[in-house]
Amino acid sequence: MAHSRVAIVTGAARGIGAAVAQRLAQDGYSVGVVDLTEESGAGTVAAIADAGGKAVAIGADVTDAGAVKAAVERVAAELGAPTVLVNNAGITRDNLLFKMTEDEWDAVLGVHLRGAFLMSREVQKHQTEQGWGRIVNLSSTSALGNRGQANYSAAKAGMQGFTKTLAIELGKFGVTVNAIAPGFIETDMTAATAARLDIDFEDFKKGAAAAIPVQRVGQPEDIAAVVSFFVREESGFVSGQVIYVAGGPKD
Ligand code: NAP
Repeated sequence: MAHSRVAIVTGAARGIGAAVAQRLAQDGYSVGVVDLTEESGAGTVAAIADAGGKAVAIGADVTDAGAVKAAVERVAAELGAPTVLVNNAGITRDNLLFKMTEDEWDAVLGVHLRGAFLMSREVQKHQTEQGWGRIVNLSSTSALGNRGQANYSAAKAGMQGFTKTLAIELGKFGVTVNAIAPGFIETDMTAATAARLDIDFEDFKKGAAAAIPVQRVGQPEDIAAVVSFFVREESGFVSGQVIYVAGGPKD
């Protein structure tokens, strides 16, 4: 039996997640657009529908086990069994270590690691049943260390270990698991970083681009293209890998 072409993208209301959802729809997937609220995902769903694709917006906090279960069940009921999962939802709560609060630590570890764990645990049921699946996790160049991001870099390094272990556990069920570690991508997240540092976003991007070998910052579509590569049929022998998508060997 051919597997169902249904994908779930978390944090898909905007930024990288929105571009990934649109790209997977272009690739022929029906897409569950998961974000904190159903309303916030409406724009992504409309863009997919306008392009002739199929998507449904679902409100769920990925750190909430009950909400995650309900979200995956809704996708399965409305679109079909999900075989592709992109764990993209993310937040930053930057601070230097001596000023970092427990809440800032817990919030960041919670969304990235607990969120990816809960989503993957729920979706793998459908993937193993279908004997085919793809999980793509969003790491970051910050996994290599970044001042002011002890919480975020720990979470993003954690995503890499999580990816490799799931690749080992799920391989025999036809499921590959890989990670993408983006460098500077132009989204609300990087705009917020510029605002926090009190630097004009255009100047911030220009400064970042000058330090990147290909001399530009990344766009959400740069990440979506690599997700598209990982999920395709012919990429089935690529698993447990981390690909840095940063315009050079690192940011
Ligand atoms: P973004 O524009 O801030 O979008 C993140 C999305 O995730 C938002 O729609 C946000 O919802 C949602 N979200 C946050 N917490 C959630 C939760 N608990 N449950 C469900 N959804 C939640 O970020 P982005 O720049 O596109 O980043 C996407 C991913 O790429 C993240 O994992 C990020 O760490 C990673 N990344 C980004 C960059 C970059 O340069 N932009 C670089 C490396 C890695 P709200 O808007 O309602 O908060």
